[in-house]
Amino acid sequence: MKLLIMGPPGAGKGTQAERLVKELNIVHISTGDMFRAAIANSTEMGLKAKGYMDKGELVPDAVVIGMVKDRLQQDDCQSGFLLDGFPRTVEQAQALDKNLQDLGIKLDAVIDIEVPLDKLMARLTGRRICKGCGSSYHVIFNPPVVADKCNSDSCGGQLYQRDDDNEASVSTRLNAYMEKTKPLIDYYKAQGIMKAINGDQDIDKVLVDVLAAVK
Ligand code: ADP
Ligand code: ADP
Ligand code: ZN
Repeated sequence: MKLLIMGPPGAGKGTQAERLVKELNIVHISTGDMFRAAIANSTEMGLKAKGYMDKGELVPDAVVIGMVKDRLQQDDCQSGFLLDGFPRTVEQAQALDKNLQDLGIKLDAVIDIEVPLDKLMARLTGRRICKGCGSSYHVIFNPPVVADKCNSDSCGGQLYQRDDDNEASVSTRLNAYMEKTKPLIDYYKAQGIMKAINGDQDIDKVLVDVLAAVK
């Protein structure tokens, strides 16, 4: 299955993606995770992306488009993938359509996780991420069993707060979403593959709804 998950920052894309790829046995492609890995490895692309990310601005289209194009050509993507955090602009969506067409791939569905904007700041400023596996937690809404430790036995990684999960960066990201990413909802509605999901429910209930929408 070839899927795309979208929604504003903090909607729960990463949380749902982690569960969906296990359930559907497909590959998770998160552009945010790819940039954070590039930063951790001090690659040239990571250094370029970090300045934008810390401020909450979008990384330039050309950088992201090239990175995803390369990723989609890898063998593990051929049996299915879930794109998370890409595309974020109409230019990225058009480039993705072209790349998929060249690869002979059609998207099965686009999942849009809807959450009222006034709930997103609390979700993002309380978010904690596992250093080991990238799993997303929340200090109140989804706390780990042991403080600051990832629940997964095989991981047990330390949780940390992302540099960009502060109020100033979140405001910029929400504006970028409204201006540049939200128009993609109509773009995919026009393709007839858009599935709107209520993301303002328990994490498990959101997952049930997403699975029902794509099956
Ligand atoms: P995104 O990838 O869309 O930015 P995340 O999946 O990282 O969002 O979730 C953002 C924050 O909100 C995290 O702290 C996560 O634990 C929390 N969260 C995710 N889904 C829900 C939900 N359904 N209800 C409450 N909090 C949630
Ligand atoms: P969130 O969980 O808040 O939705 P992500 O982890 O998806 O955030 O992305 C973090 C940051 O990485 C973004 O604020 C942006 O700077 C950069 N980024 C990720 N994906 C893209 C993209 N498709 N286009 C441009 N910038 C991106
Ligand atoms: Zn972990």
